[in-house]
Amino acid sequence: MYSAQTQNPDNAMRMVVLDSSGTAMQRISTLLPSFEGYRLHHQRQLGGLRRLLNMAAVDLVFLHCEHSMSTCRRTVEILRNLAPELPIIVVADGMSDQQGELLQAIGASDYLPLEQLSRPLIKRTLSYVIRHEKQSRQLKRLRHHDPLTRISNRTSFYRALNALLDSPAKQSPMALLTIDIDGFTRLNHNLGPRGGDAIVLMLSKRLQQALQPSEQLARIGTDEFAMLIQPRGGENIYPYTKTRAAQLLSLLTPPYRYNGHDTMAHCSIGVAMVPEHGERGDDIIRRASLARFKAKKTHGCSYALFDESLETHISNAPSAMEAEMFTALRANQFTLYYQPRVELNSGRIIGAEALIRWLHPKKGLIMPDAFIPLAEESGLIVPIGYWAVHSAGISLMKLRAQGLLQGRIGVNLSFRQFKDEQLAATITRIIEQQQIDTCALEFELTESALIKDERHVRACIEQLNALGIAFSLDDFGTGYSSFALLQKLPIHTLKIDRSFISNVHCNPDDAEIVRAIINLAHNLEKAVIAEGVETREQLDFLQAHGCDQVQGYYFSRPIPFEEFEQMLRDNQPTLAQPTPSDAAYSDS
Ligand code: C2E
Ligand code: CA
Ligand code: CA
Repeated sequence: MYSAQTQNPDNAMRMVVLDSSGTAMQRISTLLPSFEGYRLHHQRQLGGLRRLLNMAAVDLVFLHCEHSMSTCRRTVEILRNLAPELPIIVVADGMSDQQGELLQAIGASDYLPLEQLSRPLIKRTLSYVIRHEKQSRQLKRLRHHDPLTRISNRTSFYRALNALLDSPAKQSPMALLTIDIDGFTRLNHNLGPRGGDAIVLMLSKRLQQALQPSEQLARIGTDEFAMLIQPRGGENIYPYTKTRAAQLLSLLTPPYRYNGHDTMAHCSIGVAMVPEHGERGDDIIRRASLARFKAKKTHGCSYALFDESLETHISNAPSAMEAEMFTALRANQFTLYYQPRVELNSGRIIGAEALIRWLHPKKGLIMPDAFIPLAEESGLIVPIGYWAVHSAGISLMKLRAQGLLQGRIGVNLSFRQFKDEQLAATITRIIEQQQIDTCALEFELTESALIKDERHVRACIEQLNALGIAFSLDDFGTGYSSFALLQKLPIHTLKIDRSFISNVHCNPDDAEIVRAIINLAHNLEKAVIAEGVETREQLDFLQAHGCDQVQGYYFSRPIPFEEFEQMLRDNQPTLAQPTPSDAAYSDS
């Protein structure tokens, strides 16, 4: 509910009917009697309601539109400003749909005809409005919080930082620190993803302990944190930051205990000054990260401050890795592995996600997290992405020719690929040349792709959708998702991020979020896939709550095409015999 529950001991909904004549109050109170637990209060004027809102003692308002439309509009606007999340239901006689929709556009939750108001109608509206408000609240929480550590996430940190930089009031100098673990990929590999998560969580707790009241902390990457610090009482920012960085390092250095063993995790801290080192949040975070890379060159825990020489050093020299990736593309060193998607109703494999691997002639198998970020930064993701569509297209045609594939193959599209003006045209050409059946192709997008340049992205998606390609929203819950965007775009499926699934059976918050996402998807008539399902408990939970499909190590790791093809040939309902195990299909 909108209000603080502390002031509402019996937990009933406190609804205010705002009408000067009293006719609406009379009608509504007969339909929602107090003996059924409804708490209705009558207010004739806005002033009285305003006082109640200030005391956070209102959960919902019925607004009787009894004078002119313009008065009603103004009242909705005032209420929206006073209480942005308060559900407002307008009741009126003789209001046209057009007028009602206009009021909804400026913030009314719904509108109802007063004379024909019936018990079923009012109860259905209440339950719809309340459910919608609950889902918006949950989405908001998802937008702002990192599910693992429960601190702010990247999106909300960027937003807060940019708001700070944009604020006209002159800010006293601050320092932005980015902190991460050296060699985290290796650590994650050695301890397994659960172990990796546990270390990140412990690191986050140590940072939270060190946090002063005025400081901000967020998790902005897998093992990467950002912290904004500010000296109190006019102390000079440079010596202050030096002292704070040293304090943090001494807190982060002691070993981390996981599964009865001590693990060393060396941390590096990079520092950039705000606003000295950039006018935009992006620039400042990037510069703090450059400083952190410098710190990494020192053995053990250390920190470094950004200076201009770091910038020129990086930007002029394309890395050796970049050159190697370029060669890899020509020499056919990339390959796609396939991770089955299992339909929960039938227990059958109905599709797969295509995941890229680099078979390096000297270094062996390289996982995408180690090269996709650089490919995105350098733009090489554009040709690599086309290669992936081409390669997945050939595979899916092979499977269809044998009648093995019922569903779709999902190919990941990076936000960076949308910067390519020719995206839709090139994909159309690949599809035509290879005669790819688009009804078996799907693109997986992350929410970040959608918010970069909405209009262009939308146009591309619509063009590709017209060819028959479906779209799914990847890592759902970790980024920014608005209802409006979800409804506007032809997105067919939401993929619940792995981080919510890992503790779904033991963490009530995660369970609630997963339930909310499944409901949200179904309300919007979209399918929902849970990613990263590793255990029977997780599967049981998802099945009990109506999730449509699952993907995860519980059924299979991503595997080479030939193995996937064989698996489809043997495709028995997989739920009955929950193998193969992790060990049976190893991609590392
Ligand atoms: P993603 O799209 O979220 O892919 C799912 C990742 O979760 C895959 O990691 C997959 O192996 C892993 N995974 C699946 N089930 C489980 C599970 O039960 N437990 C755990 N711990 N992990 C599981 P992978 O293959 O390393 O890929 C990482 C990311 O690289 C992908 O994340 C995607 O963002 C990116 N990527 C992979 N292939 C491509 C590609 O062709 N193009 C682009 N642009 N990005 C790609
Ligand atoms: Ca994906
Ligand atoms: Ca994903």
